[in-house]
Amino acid sequence: MTDTVRALLETGAAAAPAIGGENRPDMTHEALGAFADEIVATLNGFGIGRGDRVAIVLPNGPEMATAFLTIACGATTAPLNPAYRADEYDFYLSDLNAKALVVPDDYDGDALGVAEKRGIPVLRLSPRSNEAAGLFHLAGEIEGTPANPGPAEPSDVALVLHTSGTTSRPKIVPLSQANVAASARHIANAIALKAEDRCLNIMPLFHIHGLIAAVLSSVAAGGSVWCSPGFNALRFFNWVETAKPTWYTAVPTMHQAILGRAGRNADVIKAHPFRLIRSSSSSLPPQVMAELEATFGCPVIESYGMTEAAHQMASNPLPPAARKPGTVGIAAGPEVGIMDPDGNLLGHGATGEVVIKGPNVTAGYENNPKANAENFTNGWFRTGDQGVLDNEGYLTITGRLKEIINRGGEKISPREVDEVLMDHPAVAQAVTFAMPHAKLGEEVAAAVVLREGQAADERAIRDFAAKRLADFKVPRKVLIMEEIPKGATGKLQRIGLAEKLGLAG
Ligand code: ATP
Ligand code: MG
Repeated sequence: MTDTVRALLETGAAAAPAIGGENRPDMTHEALGAFADEIVATLNGFGIGRGDRVAIVLPNGPEMATAFLTIACGATTAPLNPAYRADEYDFYLSDLNAKALVVPDDYDGDALGVAEKRGIPVLRLSPRSNEAAGLFHLAGEIEGTPANPGPAEPSDVALVLHTSGTTSRPKIVPLSQANVAASARHIANAIALKAEDRCLNIMPLFHIHGLIAAVLSSVAAGGSVWCSPGFNALRFFNWVETAKPTWYTAVPTMHQAILGRAGRNADVIKAHPFRLIRSSSSSLPPQVMAELEATFGCPVIESYGMTEAAHQMASNPLPPAARKPGTVGIAAGPEVGIMDPDGNLLGHGATGEVVIKGPNVTAGYENNPKANAENFTNGWFRTGDQGVLDNEGYLTITGRLKEIINRGGEKISPREVDEVLMDHPAVAQAVTFAMPHAKLGEEVAAAVVLREGQAADERAIRDFAAKRLADFKVPRKVLIMEEIPKGATGKLQRIGLAEKLGLAG
């Protein structure tokens, strides 16, 4: 049986490193497997078993990674963002039906009051400070007899997450053991992860990308993951020197922040070359991909992922196969198709909604019959993304259906406008979005961040866009900003941006 998290913990060589972190020796694969069994027994002693939800509010790092892995071996892990406030915990914890809440030993944050109000027992986690990274103790005042003790089975829910909330209120996604195991294998295959590989994790571990692409896929391939305390562009190159990773995976805004520090860290880049850099969760502008490859001298592999697919759906292949910048590559796990609004599958060259089907795809949202009815058609899951396949099966995401700007009936893809703006020599980052307009309904607006030491004003940027875009697509308003507001997982959010930037009328 290989379709469980516990089974994936058996793939590595016993003495090989599995989990690393700051100031501690690595935990081996053998120790990780034994620790998983210990945690399952501990949970069973607390009355928590298969199918029971354990909410986790922990900072990024090796304990968070092993808490995810080990709790998932005998219960359901539900990681929550440590930055949430009381109202948000209330919303998430009420949805989850959590049997326990895991927090750091010295935690005194907002989740506690909510747990108390909802009668959820609290378990305190303390790292075993002089031992390997990731080992911890779990203590709490609960006991009981679980309905279903012992190791999880493939159909059990391993992980419950929320979508990023980019297009609407976050949706709860249960992912089975089989879903996450399949996805970890798909990712390991796509980038040929091996026992020698070591990932530097900088992604938040309350989001699917870091949990599956960095942590589970590394361990499942017999390799290791070094868990940073959370993304920090200033410390990134120190971590590279300490952890000696062979690759990392991140969202495009992080790659851009790393590039901003690369110049003064050229010696680190030279001394510690990566085998590859992976990008996912948002579109990677071809300009950023080219700059990353030139700076790090390794292939950049753009993949396409979403929470509902336990992350990966498509990926560009490794060389010598062709990477196509601007595309998210070929189906890399599930089947990928393009569907019209009536549920018919379309051939290559036709634009429509991206749909997927495969062992990594969730069986459906929780407590959300409306979203389930809208999102599943003839066994296919509708991603809400608009895209087109070329004749070699490479997928281009042309936008999110909900983000398409409707300017008095003219449909505008914000991504197309972003790409033009980013060709302006002074522009480092561009995000196009809809702002309300009295007559047209929506009008095109954009926020841009300039390259260090470069100057350009709104007029110059609009004139540049006007030379390359039909008049109706040219942003009427261009805001020049130091930084564009992002969501909790580092993703740019077009929806709601007009309001955040005071353009909502
Ligand atoms: P919500 O569903 O709550 O609106 P979300 O879709 O942003 O939030 P995630 O599951 O984190 O939540 O993100 C998945 C989405 O991210 C995909 O549906 C797609 O729109 C986008 N995405 C992921 N990878 C890429 C990529 N390489 N290129 C373009 N878009 C991508
Ligand atoms: Mg989504």
